[in-house]
Amino acid sequence: MSSDSPKKTALVTGASRGIGKAIALELHRSGHRVLCISRSLESSRAVVEEINGDGGEAKGYAVDVSKPDQIKATAEEILKEWQLVDVLVNNAGITRDGLLIRMSDEDWYDVIQTNMSSCFHWTQSLIRPMARARSGRIINIASVIGLIGNAGQVNYASAKAGIIGMTKSVAKEFAPRSVTVNAVAPGFIESDMTSVLNDEIKDAILKNIPMKRMGKPEEIANVVGFIASPLSNYITGQVFTVDGGMVM
Ligand code: NAP
Repeated sequence: MSSDSPKKTALVTGASRGIGKAIALELHRSGHRVLCISRSLESSRAVVEEINGDGGEAKGYAVDVSKPDQIKATAEEILKEWQLVDVLVNNAGITRDGLLIRMSDEDWYDVIQTNMSSCFHWTQSLIRPMARARSGRIINIASVIGLIGNAGQVNYASAKAGIIGMTKSVAKEFAPRSVTVNAVAPGFIESDMTSVLNDEIKDAILKNIPMKRMGKPEEIANVVGFIASPLSNYITGQVFTVDGGMVM
């Protein structure tokens, strides 16, 4: 972004750690003001301080994205302060794995609400000013699991597949207003989410990755940076798979 253009505002959910943190730092590097969402101000403090300490502009917001009221109230507060969020990155997500037969209603709804419904509520709350400005980017972090399914992850796979359907539908609704909506589907990426997997599971996963390694959060953030930039002006409704060749 050239230094004489006004600073654009990006909002990243789940910005405190892992992929979301890497995305927040990448969007800072490309000149955005970054609004960092996580469940507590404490958890996003480090990334907010890193960006502000590097001559950028960041602010943390404590929002539980599984709660629509909290999303709506925060979006209202943000639009009052900044008028427009130029780039919305729906990244916050959780896993509550278990086989279908044993999955509790709570584990089903927690994952659907946190991973998928949150994307709907943030998008609905922030898209109007983008449409008025006839520009904007919505970037949803899905997963290869939403494309291929996974035993033990019926809730997660359903949420991620739902995000892909949502991405394509909203892309069609808002393409005439030049608001683009795309998804990124990461494969297996080094983060807290995957650090809990035991070595046996990790080895089995690596066998199915042609590049024979897990990805790094920055490798997802680089693609998000591209989608957020003017280089992607004519791309909407797409799913960018970033997975070392797992799904071809
Ligand atoms: P992570 O390290 O576990 O981080 C999760 C982030 O989401 C944290 O910032 C966390 O914030 C936030 N979060 C979780 N629940 C929240 C809630 N209810 N309200 C607000 N924030 C919430 O996960 P990650 O690996 O970076 O994953 C990021 C995204 O990529 C997820 O959507 C995940 O499904 C997707 N993904 C990951 C992989 C992978 O291999 N890692 C692969 C495919 C897709 P707190 O500080 O509040 O905990």
